[in-house]
Amino acid sequence: MKKHIEQLHELDQQLSALTYAQSLVEWDSLTLAPKKSVNARAACIEGISTFYFNTLVNEKTDDLLRTLELNKSYLSQIEQSKVMIFRDDYDSIAKIPAKEFSAYQGLVVESSQVWENAKKNNDFDSFAPFLEKVIAFKKNYIGYLDLGGHPYDTLLNDNEKGLTVADADAFFATLQETIVPLVQSISKQDQVIFSENEKYPIVQQEKLSSYLMEKLGFRMDGGVLARSEHPFTINLSRDDVRITTHYYDNDFMSALFSTIHETGHALYEQNINEKFGLSVIATGTSMGIHESQSRIFENNFGKSVEFWKCFYPIMQELFPNQFGQTNLLNYYKGINYVKPSLIRIEADEVTYPLHIMVRYEIEKMIFEDKVKVNELPELWREKYKSYLGVVPQTDSLGVLQDVHWSEGLFGYFPSYALGSAYAAQFEQAMNKQFNVNECLEKGDFSNILTWLRDNIHQYGRTKTPKQIIFDATGENFNPNYFIQYIQEKYRTMYQKTY
Ligand code: ZN
Repeated sequence: MKKHIEQLHELDQQLSALTYAQSLVEWDSLTLAPKKSVNARAACIEGISTFYFNTLVNEKTDDLLRTLELNKSYLSQIEQSKVMIFRDDYDSIAKIPAKEFSAYQGLVVESSQVWENAKKNNDFDSFAPFLEKVIAFKKNYIGYLDLGGHPYDTLLNDNEKGLTVADADAFFATLQETIVPLVQSISKQDQVIFSENEKYPIVQQEKLSSYLMEKLGFRMDGGVLARSEHPFTINLSRDDVRITTHYYDNDFMSALFSTIHETGHALYEQNINEKFGLSVIATGTSMGIHESQSRIFENNFGKSVEFWKCFYPIMQELFPNQFGQTNLLNYYKGINYVKPSLIRIEADEVTYPLHIMVRYEIEKMIFEDKVKVNELPELWREKYKSYLGVVPQTDSLGVLQDVHWSEGLFGYFPSYALGSAYAAQFEQAMNKQFNVNECLEKGDFSNILTWLRDNIHQYGRTKTPKQIIFDATGENFNPNYFIQYIQEKYRTMYQKTY
């Protein structure tokens, strides 16, 4: 058995090295790589993927995993997790013909470049043939796996293990019941809007971003903050976690809250058990749990009045002309302004899930063969009208706004809404141990970070999302915590004075 266990660790080393290389190319493509590099990059990614595929999918690996599965009792917890993850990965790609798998990896590199231009030029037609190919691959993939149930279940399960259309339908129905009347009642309140004509010097915004990420617990010697068109986080190892933001001089909220959001993602990766080393288990367990970590920092903490009781003086010091005369309550209302809008990434905390529902409904229809690619722009407009009451005038502001589909990320969007709901459940569990608001008021994140590390971060992929939620909160996922949180937040915002 010792020899087999050694082979398992070797396999882990090889595959993790390939993932590392692929992530580095991805980081480069999103930050510094010149546009013209796209063909060489696509070929490089295709090459790495082929190598990955051949290393994982072969008889030797299959035999090794089978032997280890039959001898579970000889394995440590960590080894068992590795076997389980490799088996899942093996099963999810082994049935795809090798050539098709590699070609697809190259396709998504190209297709995201085409999408970028299409979005810039409001030209859906140029993107449509690529989107068709990506969707065709995904449909084939669902067929190869042949898991039964709803075809979209396969894609949901890839992002959030165990999630099905039936679960997601029920979850979104609950959210919709709450959010629609809540948005109506908030719109009658005396909301505060920051002027779009105000300028916020970017050098001051940069200072604020760096200051806050360090305050929240980001290890600066194990990561970087850079700039990119769209903010994101990429983890090469727990000691090299890179985040990006984007500064706009007439909108301080964009960079501020995306930095806090990405810091939440980064803290998850930086606090994974050191002993895991470079390994398949040394990353977040699912997109939903990852989003819970970014959203708990961005919204539950970063958009709370308690947080700003501590940090507002710094804001006023950095932007004296803009906030010198604004009191805390108005600032707090301003950062929590609610209004149905066209762009998901700029949406407020309350209407955000409605943007996700639009995408969820459309993706479900795509994989039920109920809509063709050339019908998507119109379907998008219809859904926005019915869910948010607004209609985009261009496809750039509509169906072309998100990068996800060009990268083949179907089944991914629901994890954003789940993340918010998980975050509320985690916060209430945390509150049973200590008073979260008191920590926020002091700007002291040590108890919060310890709780997150002990209950979530450290485990990496050794626990499933369902296990994490149950072990951390003592119960299964319950969206009512989010409903209570969001209703309570806005009820008190317009009643209390601070
Ligand atoms: Zn995120």
